[in-house]
Amino acid sequence: MSKHQLVIVSNRLPVSVRREAGKLVFEPSSGGLATAMTSIGDSKNRVWVGWPGIASDDLTSEEKDQIVEELKVHGCAPVFLTKSQVEQYYDGYANDVLWPLFHYFQDTSSYKDEYWRVYQEVQLEFARVTSEHAEQESTIWVHDYHLMLLPHLLRQSYPNASIGFFLHIPFPSFEIFRSLPQRKTLLAGLLGADLIGFHIYDYARHFASSCERLLGLEPHDEMMEYQGRMIKFDTFPIGIDYKKFYEATSHPAARQAERTMRHSNKGKKILISVDRLDYSKGIPQRLEGFQRFLEDYPEYHGKVCLQMVAVPSRTEVETYQALRDDVEKTVSRINGMYGTAEWTPISYRFKNLPFDEIVGLYMAGDVALVTPVRDGMNLVAKEYVATKHDGRGVLILSEMAGAIDELSEAIAVNPNDTTSISKAILQALTMTKREQKDRLQIMHRRLSSYTVKAWTKDFMKELDAAGRYSRQYRRQMDDGEIAELLEEYDKASRRLLIFDYDGTLRDYVSSPRAFMAMPSLRLRRMIKRLVANSHNQVAVVSGRSRQALSAWFFDKRITLVAEHGAWIRKDGKWEHRANDFHKVKKELTPILKQYTARTSGSAIEEKDSSTVWHYRNVVPELAYNRAKELTRDILSILKTDSIGVFTGNKILEVRPKSIDKGKAVTELVEKHKPDFILCAGDDYTDEDMFGTLKENDNAHTIKVGSGDTKAKHQLGGVARMLHLLSEISAR
Ligand code: UDP
Repeated sequence: MSKHQLVIVSNRLPVSVRREAGKLVFEPSSGGLATAMTSIGDSKNRVWVGWPGIASDDLTSEEKDQIVEELKVHGCAPVFLTKSQVEQYYDGYANDVLWPLFHYFQDTSSYKDEYWRVYQEVQLEFARVTSEHAEQESTIWVHDYHLMLLPHLLRQSYPNASIGFFLHIPFPSFEIFRSLPQRKTLLAGLLGADLIGFHIYDYARHFASSCERLLGLEPHDEMMEYQGRMIKFDTFPIGIDYKKFYEATSHPAARQAERTMRHSNKGKKILISVDRLDYSKGIPQRLEGFQRFLEDYPEYHGKVCLQMVAVPSRTEVETYQALRDDVEKTVSRINGMYGTAEWTPISYRFKNLPFDEIVGLYMAGDVALVTPVRDGMNLVAKEYVATKHDGRGVLILSEMAGAIDELSEAIAVNPNDTTSISKAILQALTMTKREQKDRLQIMHRRLSSYTVKAWTKDFMKELDAAGRYSRQYRRQMDDGEIAELLEEYDKASRRLLIFDYDGTLRDYVSSPRAFMAMPSLRLRRMIKRLVANSHNQVAVVSGRSRQALSAWFFDKRITLVAEHGAWIRKDGKWEHRANDFHKVKKELTPILKQYTARTSGSAIEEKDSSTVWHYRNVVPELAYNRAKELTRDILSILKTDSIGVFTGNKILEVRPKSIDKGKAVTELVEKHKPDFILCAGDDYTDEDMFGTLKENDNAHTIKVGSGDTKAKHQLGGVARMLHLLSEISAR
């Protein structure tokens, strides 16, 4: 199998295979996305992975080989799926669960365990085929809701690839998304990517809020850290092949279609309505809106007609069959109520029109009614505008379509509000030529600059940058560096081993209470072995209270630094570092208590020389706002400059500025004069230790986790730190 630099993965390939009179027929599609994708990278180094559109049960192994060979010519590689897989994964989980839910049709979404099982199985199959074509440093771009688990699966085998994901449909609000049984797995699936793209800001915002609420992540500046990787999420409103539509207006077939349409509706204003027959498109509501217009403005009877094209879609699915019946009945009802011998208000076609006919219809349309109740983007709106370069035509566009952000010169309507639709039709029909032209011109400018090709290039550029940043961000100690550290350790005779506790030797727990975070037996054993080595001096430097630390590490040979340095236990005796925290403690307590009482999930931890407000279990946005308010309130009562308010890992800490872990470490180094120092920590307070040791050639500082740090090295998490500790303690 040949490997490629760029791999595009989507449910369907840009080439479809079907059987006709017993033979396989290959039909390349010339959709906007397909054209744009072939404009990036060089064709030899690019491959598109996807389902070819024919069930594999009907294929012999020779035919499969034939498909592989033929698709290779088109730069494609097939993922073969059985009929049952297509039913469960595509019709089922993707289109019967995700599609309705992501378009806010909660009642239409019908979940079945079998859908989910096969959805996962198919993702594995896509991952397998992709891995036949991708190399370690490839760029892999995964498309849409059919493949939400794929970025994560690919990340397992391609830690250094640049993986991008684009969602072509809306991402729903957290309240909707949370109702999915697999919500966390789906998020984790997406988070395997380096860049996750959405059409508009609202979708990106909803996604970020779901990650925050369900996975406890902290999105900021359109980035979030997950499992030691930094992931970027951003908006890229997909464009159209503007030139193609612009130029098509001079195709003879398109002009003929326009003329025919105008001729058969002579003397009437033509309203057009073009969509796939899908419940998200708001077709019944649109018909109600048109009926309302006919009711409200009888003077237009006989002077307007609605040309409605509904493109057959997912015709096997029951909901779609019911929608078709409903739409056809409504059209008949309205035509029956208002039609005359000379005039039929609505002309309805249930068919897929050839390209030139669509263009002709757009050209003939005096007004385009595009009123989906929910739509990720909506290309029909953009295509209609692109064909209107004579400056005539009005677009009525739903507020619920992603396209509204860019096409703000359209008449915006609430698709559920029939009065709003009726008024918009009147406004469109009475709009002056000048205003039509002005509005169209602005929209043209936008559509012609951010075309589907520009969109593709933009995403690829961002993906490249996100991939590079992500690799740099999670720079981890490699085996060579670890071996070097162990070698230095072996050579040394006066070693000082300094460890922060929470987040370094022990994963964070949900409560600050000491018994929840006790060291494991394995950790105790390793520390015991380290302490038993007479060349070692072990120090635990923590923000925890001295009571907690001495209960956990009772061996007196261990140096303990509690409360970031306010207390130090040397040779079994605790010494206190004088500070003036006691002067403010009394005033602080009532404020903290008040905040804790009205912020569910928060807790206070009081220590001798500091007080901590924990908000790990508080709803993130609320925690963020309360922490800000609390900081402001505390600062307003502090009459001394010597006390500071510090933000740590889901905590707010009030403590003397004069005390920090860096000072404690300096003291230890002066006392022990080590020829080898290992110092590990994870939080902002540990940066003081790393900073202090920066110039010390004997010091090996390690940040546990990722992100910016003054430490020389980084280790992915507590598990990796403990692994290193076990290697050291075994020496
Ligand atoms: N379209 C088509 N055949 C038709 C009518 C429309 O292929 O008879 C195309 C139209 O040109 C547009 C696409 O279908 O490119 C619809 O895209 P949109 O984003 O509006 O909706 P989607 O179907 O993707 O939800």
